[in-house]
Amino acid sequence: MKTIIEPFKIKSVEPIYFTNFRERKEILKNAHYNPFLIHARDVIIDLLTDSGTSAMSSAQWAGIMLGDESYAGADSFFKFESAVKKITGLPIVIPTHQGRAAEKILFSVLGGPGKTVLSNTLFDTTRANVEFTGAEGLDLVCAEGKQPGVIADFKGNIDLEALESAIQRLGNQNIPGVVITITNNSGGGQPVSMANIEGAKAICLRHGIPLIIDACRFAENCYFIKMREPGYQEESVLAIAQKLFSFADMVTMSAKKDAFANIGGFLALREEQLAQQFRNLLIVTEGFPTYGGLAGRDLEAIAQGLEEIVNEDYLRYRIRSIEYIGDKLTSAGVPLVLPTGGHAVYLDAAAFLPHISKDQYPGQALACALYLHGGIRGVEIGSVMFGKYAKDGSLISPPLELVRLAIPRRVYTQSHMDYVTEVIADVYHHRHTIRGMKITYEAPVLRHFTAHFDML
Ligand SMILES: *Cc1c(COP(=O)(O)O)cnc(C)c1O
Repeated sequence: MKTIIEPFKIKSVEPIYFTNFRERKEILKNAHYNPFLIHARDVIIDLLTDSGTSAMSSAQWAGIMLGDESYAGADSFFKFESAVKKITGLPIVIPTHQGRAAEKILFSVLGGPGKTVLSNTLFDTTRANVEFTGAEGLDLVCAEGKQPGVIADFKGNIDLEALESAIQRLGNQNIPGVVITITNNSGGGQPVSMANIEGAKAICLRHGIPLIIDACRFAENCYFIKMREPGYQEESVLAIAQKLFSFADMVTMSAKKDAFANIGGFLALREEQLAQQFRNLLIVTEGFPTYGGLAGRDLEAIAQGLEEIVNEDYLRYRIRSIEYIGDKLTSAGVPLVLPTGGHAVYLDAAAFLPHISKDQYPGQALACALYLHGGIRGVEIGSVMFGKYAKDGSLISPPLELVRLAIPRRVYTQSHMDYVTEVIADVYHHRHTIRGMKITYEAPVLRHFTAHFDML
């Protein structure tokens, strides 16, 4: 088989600025060993996130010039609304400035003390918005999803038995929603099968609980369904997405992911009464219901991006380009979450740095080492991002200690990725010299964004 090539040509470029080891040592120290605090100009390959970092197409840029900036009822809103409806089939579409704004509105209405939101895995902003209302979030990812080295097709699935028994135990009146995150970002970008979503919906229906889909990477997830789940090989990704969303009562999405946009998001649903409550909050914090927190030009870019994202030449390239990095790292012996998921490669920091205990943050140490050695910026997804403290002050760690290398859409070429794998293989080679870290400052919520660290 021939190489699967980038299905686009480059029309416009941005320079990359190079730094050397000595400079990066100083930069890292000044950033308190937190890659979030490094200036982007000082990063050679930026894999911090795939969020809002996509290269827009010429058609999206053309859409930017067509943006209708009318306060109410702008043309651009109706294009946006119909693009979202075409994919989700949900009749009510509420634009927001990001995914988390949709989550904030959703859980302000549904959440509150005594409530528990069940999920395959809540993403960090979703969990923060649930917990901010006094509610709790409970992750019920399937057993394979907790084992980075185990190969399985749908490691993002929710454990349906655990879902049923959690509902029995907590009482359906205390569960305002079940959130299925596709793909499962914090669980390794792993897909969720159609059968699993159908199963979760059946359980929700039986208990009168709404099923909410966090749809940030729906197209990548649907492409995996097409590739891996029996019965879908002949279906288009669009048709698969339409079926998948038919099980959803509500959808939140960040358009910064699978809509190729630099900003934006939405909340979509079926029930008008709830929508009215959501819109009341929207007007206070985002804006009028036909623009949310967005400019008309952003709505245009999202509408066009949603058309482009279900293109299967693109998705074939996208999923292969992630797998390509995974293959190279695997042959270098580097431990990672396998199989590779949709938007990122997740290094298994606990296996990479077995000499660093969880309370010395192996993921943070690895993220810093990648920057120091190659100017590569990734993000810890482990005890820094999700750690909690027990009453005695000891750390409660999540099941996995990962470093996520998220690949921006349509931004980097194969040689950029060859460089990345070379740097990681080098770091792996002298992993024994990498030391643990301690936190010297942290904020009460979403601490990973702003925390300060020191090397031990
Ligand atoms: C990015 C993301 C969000 C939040 O979206 P923002 O646009 O960053 O606010 C929510 N859920 C998942 C799975 C995400 O990846």
